[in-house]
Amino acid sequence: MQTPWIRHAITEINADFQRSADTHLIRFSLEAYPGIHFYLKDESTHPSGSLKHRLARSLFLYGLANGWIRENTPIIEASSGSTAVSEAYFSRLLGLPFIAVMPASTAKRKVEMIRFYGGECHFVEDPCQLYSESERLAQSLNGHFMDQFTYAERATDWRGNNNIAESIFRQMAHEPFPIPHTLIMSAGTGGTSATLGRYIRYQGYETRLLVVDPEHSVFFDYWHRRDRTLSSERGSAIEGIGRPRVEPSFLPDVIDEMIKVPDSATVAAMLKLETILGRRPGASTGTNFWGMLQVAQRMRAQGQQGALVTLLCDSGERYPDTYYNPEWVKQHIGDIQPWVRDLA
Ligand SMILES: *Cc1c(COP(=O)(O)O)cnc(C)c1O
Repeated sequence: MQTPWIRHAITEINADFQRSADTHLIRFSLEAYPGIHFYLKDESTHPSGSLKHRLARSLFLYGLANGWIRENTPIIEASSGSTAVSEAYFSRLLGLPFIAVMPASTAKRKVEMIRFYGGECHFVEDPCQLYSESERLAQSLNGHFMDQFTYAERATDWRGNNNIAESIFRQMAHEPFPIPHTLIMSAGTGGTSATLGRYIRYQGYETRLLVVDPEHSVFFDYWHRRDRTLSSERGSAIEGIGRPRVEPSFLPDVIDEMIKVPDSATVAAMLKLETILGRRPGASTGTNFWGMLQVAQRMRAQGQQGALVTLLCDSGERYPDTYYNPEWVKQHIGDIQPWVRDLA
C-alpha cells in the first residue's frame, strides 16, 4: 500500500536528482594517437563520490516502488565500498538505518565515508561470505538486503531517463566523432556495462562495447565459456571491479569484446592518467584507461580515427594508502615498472 512516507521518500530522491548537475565528459588527446579523441565521463563528481550514486538512487527507487523499503526499514548491502558509501548517503537522506557488509581489507577512506553518512560497517574475513552474512542480517533485523549484484542490471532505466549511456551520447552530440568507435568499461556488478550495451543496441549505434576485467575475476572466462559455476579463491585487488563468482547482473551478450588487464598494468595506467588529467583517478579507472589504449593502438595501426569513451569511476583521493602508496603497491600488486615504461 502507498503510504505518505513512501511518497515522501520518492520525492526526496527525485529532488536530490534535480539538484544535481550532469557529470562532465572530459576530452583529451595524446600526441602518440593523432586523430583519436579520448573522453572520460567523470563520475567522481556525484555527491557521494562515484558512479555508484546512480546505482544507489536506482536501487532505492526500485525498492520503494516495489514495496520492499518502508519507513524505518534497515538497509543492508554487501559492498566493497563505493556502493555502500552511496547507499549510506541515500539512507541518511531518507532517515533509514544502514549496514554495509564488507571485506576487512576495504579502503579506510571508504569506511570513514560510510560512517560519516551515519552507516554501520560489518566486516567479514572471507569475501565469499558477503552474501550469506547480508541475508542473515536482513532476516534477523527485518531489513531489506539491497543485493546490488542481482538488481543493478534491472533497477536502471535501460531505455534512457538520463541513464549514463543516454547522457554520454547526448554529450557527444557536437563532437567531431559524435558516435564513439568504442565504449570501454570495467565490471563490478556489471550494471553499467549492461546499461551501455543495451542502449547501443536499442539506439542502433555502430559503437562497440569493450569490457576490461582485472586479474582476479571470473567475468572474462565466463564471457568466453558461459559457465555460471566459475569461481575464484582470491578476491580482486582492484576495488570496485572483478568478481570471484559470476554475478546475475553481468550480462555477457551485450558485450562485443573482453580484455584481461594485469593489476600492475592497471596501476601504471592510473598513474599515467594522473599526469594527463592533473588529478588522481581511482584504480578501476586505470583498468579502463589501459583498455582504451589497447583500442587506440589498434585504431592507429589500421589508420583509423574516431572517439573512445570510458568512465572515471571514482577519485584517487580515496586511495592514498593503497594504490597511491608505492610501498603498498610493491607489496600487494607487484612491480609496475615494466608497464610504466610501456606507457611512457
Ligand atoms: C562499481 C564500480 C565499478 C563497476 O561498475 P558496475 O556498474 O558495478 O559494473 C567500477 N569502478 C568503481 C570504483 C566501482 O565502485
